[in-house]
Amino acid sequence: MRYIIYGANRVAKDFLYIFDELDIVCVVDDEWDGKTFEGYPVFREDHFREKTADEQIILCDFKKETKISRLNQAGFVYGTDYLYEEDFFTQLDSFQIPKDRKLVMWGTGAIAKWFHEQYENYCFEFYIDSYNRAENFYGKDIKKPREIRNWEEYFVIIGVEKDREIKENLRDLGLKEYVDFAGYQSITGMPSELLRKTIFDSSYYDLKCNTMQNHLEILRDGHTRCCCTTFVRQNLDNIFEKDPHALWHSNLHKVMCLSTENRTFSFCDKNLCPLFVAKEKEEIKKFEEPYHKITEHPKTLVLGYDSSCNLSCSTCRKELHFAEGTEQKMVNQITKKVQEEYLANCNFLVLAGDGEVFASPDYRKIYEAQNCNPNYIRLLSNGILFTPGNWEKFIRGKTGKVMLTVSVDAATKKTYEHIRRNGNFDVLQKNMEFAADLRKRGELSYFRMNFVVQRENYQEMIPFVRWGERLNADEVFFTKILNWGTYTSEEFSQVSMMEADQITPKPELKEVLAHPVMQSKIVDLGTIQFAHKIDDIGIVENYYMWELEKRGGKLFT
Ligand code: SF4
Ligand code: SF4
Repeated sequence: MRYIIYGANRVAKDFLYIFDELDIVCVVDDEWDGKTFEGYPVFREDHFREKTADEQIILCDFKKETKISRLNQAGFVYGTDYLYEEDFFTQLDSFQIPKDRKLVMWGTGAIAKWFHEQYENYCFEFYIDSYNRAENFYGKDIKKPREIRNWEEYFVIIGVEKDREIKENLRDLGLKEYVDFAGYQSITGMPSELLRKTIFDSSYYDLKCNTMQNHLEILRDGHTRCCCTTFVRQNLDNIFEKDPHALWHSNLHKVMCLSTENRTFSFCDKNLCPLFVAKEKEEIKKFEEPYHKITEHPKTLVLGYDSSCNLSCSTCRKELHFAEGTEQKMVNQITKKVQEEYLANCNFLVLAGDGEVFASPDYRKIYEAQNCNPNYIRLLSNGILFTPGNWEKFIRGKTGKVMLTVSVDAATKKTYEHIRRNGNFDVLQKNMEFAADLRKRGELSYFRMNFVVQRENYQEMIPFVRWGERLNADEVFFTKILNWGTYTSEEFSQVSMMEADQITPKPELKEVLAHPVMQSKIVDLGTIQFAHKIDDIGIVENYYMWELEKRGGKLFT
C-alpha cells in the first residue's frame, strides 16, 4: 500500500519520523505554503481526485473534525480510503494484552496507586498482595497469590518497583512474561502509549537537548534509561531482553527521542531538570527544523546497577548493604554484558550512579577491563575509599580525562558521621586533600564537592564553601534533598529546607544563601536556586557534559 499524508503539521512530521518505512507518495494540505513537506511534494486537496485504489490517506492532526468531514464529503470511507495516524501506533508494540483476559494488578502500594490514577482506562478485576492486610483497594478485593487458582484467565500487571521476586513466582506457576504478565513499566512504556502522549502534546519549549540520543544509563536488574533517572522515569528496554543494537534502535527509544526533537519534552520532569529554568511552556510553534537521527551507539554510558556501598547514609538506606546471593549474581551478569557489549563504544563513562564505585568489586571489574579507556570518565564517589592505592588501581592504563565528584553533605565531623553513617570525617578530609593534590597536578581534570541540603546540615553550607575554596575545588554543588521514599511526607517537610512548593527556600536557608561567601565563584546552587540560564547555552548535547561545563570550562574538547 502507498500512502498520502493529509496534513502538513507537527503531528504529520512526528508520524513521518516514527514510521519512516511507509511508502509515502505525497502530502496534501491547502494551508501549507511550501512546495514540499519533509521531502515530500505537497498538493492541494483537489489532488485527492487522483487517488488510486492502492493508495490510502493517513489523516494527521491534533484536531481532526474538519478534515474528517471533508473526506467524508468527498465520498471517502474510513478504514478503506483513509485512516488516522493513531491507527498505526500499535504496530510499534512488541506485545499486546490478550483481549480475552481479565486484568489483575499485583501490588497495592504507591506504584499501584499511581497507576490507578494515571491510567484510568485499565480496570482491574482484583488486586494481589501477599502482605497487605486490608480487604480491598480502590473498591476491589485484595487476594493473596495462593488464593488464585485460575491464573490462565488473567493478565497480571505487576505494580511494584522491585519486581524480580514476583516475576520469579509467576514463572514458577508456569506463566510467561508478555503473554500472561508484564511489569507496569512495560505497559506504561508501550511505544504506542508513549507515542500517543508526545505526538498529541501541543506544548513547545524553547530548548534544544540531544541527551536522549546519545545517553544510556544501565541500572539495577538491567533496566535502562536515556537520561538522568531523576529527570526521566520512563525505562528503555532491559539489557537482558535485547542486544545493544536492538535496544538502542528500538521503537521505544525512537519515541523517547521524538519527545525532545519535537520540543514537547513530554517525558522530562520539568520541575527537576535544570534546563527548564526560566522556560515557560509555549504553544507549538516552529516545526520546520529537521529531526535528527539517533546515533549509531550510545556515546555516554552511566552505570548504576550495584547498590553495594561502604556507607549507609540516612537519605539512602537504613543499613549497610553489599550485594550477595541472587542480587550479586545479577550484578555479575550485568557487568559481563557491559564489558562485552557496551564498553567498547563508550566515549564518556559515568561511574557510579548507584552504590560506591570503590566499594563494588563489579565496578572495579569495569574500570580495570582492557577495553575500558573512554575519552572521559566521571567518577561519582563518597570519597571514603578515594585513597592513593585505589586511585592507582583505577588510573592504570587510562589515557582519558577523569573528573571527580564527591558527595560530602557536611563540614563537621559530628554532622558528617551522623548523615553519612559508617563514614569517618578524618579519613574523608585526608582523601579530599589527596583529590585536591591530583587536581593541582592535572591528573584530575575536574574536582567537585556535593552537598545535599537538609535541616541537619544547612548551617554548614558556609564552612563547606570555605573548605572547597581551600582545596581549590572547581565547584561546590548544592542540591535540595529529594524524597526517594525514605521519609513520610510529614518527616520530609521537616527534613527539607524548601517550602512545600519545593521551589522556595525556607527563611532560615534564605539567610544562609544571603551570606557573601555564597557568592563565591565555585558555588553552584544546583536545584536550590538555579544560577545558570540555559538561554545563553544554545544546544545541550548531553546533560551530564553540560552540567560539568556550565561554568564555562571546556572539558569535552
Ligand atoms: S536533560 Fe534533556 S532529556 Fe534530560 S530531562 Fe532535561 S531536557 Fe529532558
Ligand atoms: S554513599 Fe551514596 S550509595 Fe552509599 S549509602 Fe550514601 S548515598 Fe547511598
